[in-house]
Amino acid sequence: MQRAKRGRDNPALNLAISVGNALKKPVIVVFGLTANYPGAQRRHYRFLVDGLPEVQDALAARNVHLVLRIGDPADVVLCVAEEVRPALVIADENPLRIGMEWRRLVAEGLSVPFVLVDADVVVPSAHFPKEEFAARTIRPKIHKVLDLYMQRTGNPRAHIALPPAEIPVGEGIEPDALLNSLHVGGVGEVADYRGGPAEAMRRLQRFLKDRLPRYATERNEPTPYMTSELSAHLHFGHISPTTIALAVRDSGAAQESIDAFLEELIVRRELAINFVARNPDYDRLEGCAAWGLKTLAKHRDDPRPVLYSAETLERGETSDLLWNAAQKEMVLTGRMHNYLRMYWAKKILEWSPDPETAFAIALDLNDRYEMDGRDPNGYAGIAWAIGGKHDRPWAERQIFGTIRFMSGASTGRKFDSAAYISRVQELEKGTYLAT
Ligand SMILES: Cc1cc2nc3c(=O)[nH]c(=O)nc-3n(C[C@H](O)[C@H](O)[C@H](O)COP(=O)(O)OP(=O)(O)OC[C@H]3O[C@@H](n4cnc5c(N)ncnc54)[C@H](O)[C@@H]3O)c2cc1C
Repeated sequence: MQRAKRGRDNPALNLAISVGNALKKPVIVVFGLTANYPGAQRRHYRFLVDGLPEVQDALAARNVHLVLRIGDPADVVLCVAEEVRPALVIADENPLRIGMEWRRLVAEGLSVPFVLVDADVVVPSAHFPKEEFAARTIRPKIHKVLDLYMQRTGNPRAHIALPPAEIPVGEGIEPDALLNSLHVGGVGEVADYRGGPAEAMRRLQRFLKDRLPRYATERNEPTPYMTSELSAHLHFGHISPTTIALAVRDSGAAQESIDAFLEELIVRRELAINFVARNPDYDRLEGCAAWGLKTLAKHRDDPRPVLYSAETLERGETSDLLWNAAQKEMVLTGRMHNYLRMYWAKKILEWSPDPETAFAIALDLNDRYEMDGRDPNGYAGIAWAIGGKHDRPWAERQIFGTIRFMSGASTGRKFDSAAYISRVQELEKGTYLAT
């Protein structure tokens, strides 16, 4: 278990249990917790470890033992495999470079079959073997097979438990102790942003009840958010996208809202996963659209009226109040509203000496501060904003060329920006009461 960190609605786990039952063998789950996950900060580790006791309990309810060891995940899996001599190893998929590398090492080191299950998508990425050009190219392919995957799966229980004497040694699943033994620093924890499957379900219920009915018309409003705020839980695998999709489909909300939400959750999210899985340059400017790279190169030497250093940007000290508020919201709360993320990244392009620097700054800030950072959606979102990925050319202008431009004035008119700025100021002073 690496990406799909949950004990229920987990297709990789379901397959392991079903095969274990068919072979009359027990199932164990192995989790390697590394302090060296690229870019991960203390806030991300807190979110992750807080979810682990629930995973352990959900697995125990299914007669499955969780073995957690601290170390490189591939080494941990190979080590435990050496001890328990499994008939078969099953893992969840992860399209990111590091995730693929771990799985490659496990595949190389095992002498038994190793099966990967795409457990964190609705439609498996194998349906899209080539890099998709845009939402309009992947959408019909998704809709063609969607009904096949919009299905409830059971949560089977393992028939046979591993005898206690044969359970491999592992760490105790205690969040504070695990966090301490990792010695991770970096960007600090966010007190009221809790990880874990139960919190993910609470957010889903809140979304269905209070926000989904208004999603189609008010999703661009950041004060208060009308979106699900489930991206970090999806990133950490605390909830299955299929669980969310089915709950939304069957919610009885207006079809317009259901369709708008499923477009984001399935089409946009899986387009981002396709980008990361099929484009080796997903975290560099080079991964952007060819037309985008061409137009940015043409405007490379355009004068930049204002340049800000990475430090000034990080501190949210530009002359743009809306941008500063977005940056500070991200630093303080580990999140930024989707609409503001687009504006935020585009301004970094405008204020940086060249597009490569802009891309690197945006990615670094996004991945360190956003609780959902280091995710395919982040790589695709930044490539979209700065390099036109999955977008089309717009009217030509300075610096941006034909990359879509967003002005502060028009962005600020799309929602109540004064209320948003004042909310972030209250957050800074510690006087804002989150809902
Ligand atoms: C510059 C930039 C950076 C971004 N960085 C990240 C990131 O690091 N991690 C991340 O998960 N998302 C990122 N996004 C995409 C999007 O902003 C977030 O997924 C969304 O804001 C999360 O809020 P929510 O869960 O309330 O979304 P909802 O509106 O409730 O949507 C439900 C789910 O659909 C998916 N989704 C929504 N919008 C998008 C989108 N534009 N592209 C792909 N999937 C989407 C997400 O998984 C989201 O949780 C970025 C977008 C941009 C423009």
